[in-house]
Parts: sequence; C-alpha cells; structure tokens
Amino acid sequence: MATVQDPVCHMSVEKTEAAAKTQHKGQQYFFCSADCKKKFDKAPDKYAPKKSGGEHKGK
Ligand SMILES: [Zn+2]
Repeated sequence: MATVQDPVCHMSVEKTEAAAKTQHKGQQYFFCSADCKKKFDKAPDKYAPKKSGGEHKGK
C-alpha cells in the first residue's frame, strides 16, 4: 500500500486506486480524478513539486 499526494489538490491517493496518472519529466504522478489530471496536464510545471538535486537530462 503506497499513497502518494495528488499534486493538484494535495489529497492522498492510493496508487492502485488513482483515477488517473501521468508522467512528467520521468516522474509519475497520480490523481484522485481525471479532472485533476487535466489541470496538471495544462500546467505541469505549476503543479509538479520542486525537487532538490540535479536534473537528469535524457538517458
Ligand atoms: Zn485531486
């Protein structure tokens, strides 16, 4: 059982029960609803959590 945070509405989402998921810059994001995914897809950089550490560029 692994819960992750919906980056749009910040609620906890069970990975296996996520209504929607997407990938952004190699990172996978899970959403409570398709609506949250739509919002994320429109502005991923707005919602994607800022990560410390170096960026991976390609492979
Ligand atoms: Zn949500």
